[in-house]
Amino acid sequence: MWMLVPIAFAGKLLSAFRMQLSYLWSSLVPLLPSLRAAFQLAGTQRGRQQQGRKEAVETRREEEEGIDQPTTPLSVNYHFTRQCNYKCGFCFHTAKTSFVLPLEEAKRGLLLLKEAGMEKINFSGGEPFLHDRGEYLGKLVKFCKDELQLPSVSIVSNGSLIRERWFKSYGEYLDILAISCDSFDEQVNVLIGRGQGKKNHVENLQKLRRWCRDYRVAFKINSVINRFNVEEDMNEQIKALNPLRWKVFQCLIIEGENSGEDALREAERFLISDEEFERFLDRHKEVSCLVPESNQKMKDSYLILDEYMRFLNCRNGRKDPSKSILDVGVEEAIKFSGFDEKMFLKRGGKYVWSKADLKLDW
Ligand code: SF4
Repeated sequence: MWMLVPIAFAGKLLSAFRMQLSYLWSSLVPLLPSLRAAFQLAGTQRGRQQQGRKEAVETRREEEEGIDQPTTPLSVNYHFTRQCNYKCGFCFHTAKTSFVLPLEEAKRGLLLLKEAGMEKINFSGGEPFLHDRGEYLGKLVKFCKDELQLPSVSIVSNGSLIRERWFKSYGEYLDILAISCDSFDEQVNVLIGRGQGKKNHVENLQKLRRWCRDYRVAFKINSVINRFNVEEDMNEQIKALNPLRWKVFQCLIIEGENSGEDALREAERFLISDEEFERFLDRHKEVSCLVPESNQKMKDSYLILDEYMRFLNCRNGRKDPSKSILDVGVEEAIKFSGFDEKMFLKRGGKYVWSKADLKLDW
């Protein structure tokens, strides 16, 4: 009997406690969704903070690696002259000077680039065949292949001044010849500024294609898509010419070159929208050698050397020159090139570029 008193007391206590608990639970239930949301929010914020910290560390590491590892000038575009016999309205390397380095100085710069890791050199302008009737260019091409043993030596030209005798003298040292052609309609070429009086740019292109076959030089075509050719259908003509690559660029504005107060051109009237560029690409999707280059891809993904062998930095929409590699060396000058190596690789800048490795139907 004496045992029953504490048991009854404990039972009462338990029942009172259960009542309190159930009261507390019933008052908490309506608050549950808000509590759950608060916990989730705190978790997400913590996750975001952790992710942000991780990204910041990665960026810092990438930046540090970038500082430690100098950019390799794998593929360089040397615009050794600004003079040209054409006047394309959108030209973004205009004839601001007539300076050309003495041949031996240019060779010294090319040797420095080779020592810094250059594998491909592309000679461009202006029009590279204009100076000394192509002899200066020919000597540089021969030097780069014969003495520097570069895997790839190429030229971009408007094609109007090339003679067969040039191929006879220098064709064997050249891997790729790229000819600029923006239209197969001569009237459109005249509108763009590629008109050559009685000469026909398109017929000339066909002749150059034959010479490339005869002298075993890979043939490439570059086209700038602009207001005047954006509606053109070039499928048939490009397939007939059968180039190794057909580079298709979207017309680009460069302050101080083809736009702005000090510029020699006004390219604004040539500009097209991204959508128009996409439509042009879509119309030519059957052409397997087509390599498109939107403004996005083109920007900062080329290493450009000007006539003084200064890298041109296009990051701010204009061309800011570094010091010349002849004065400060490649490693120092390239820091100011604004070159985006990742974009270079993303746009397919590194491809089979030596004719020794190309299986071509000459
Ligand atoms: S051919 Fe080339 S360098 Fe000459 S004006 Fe035209 S775009 Fe400029």
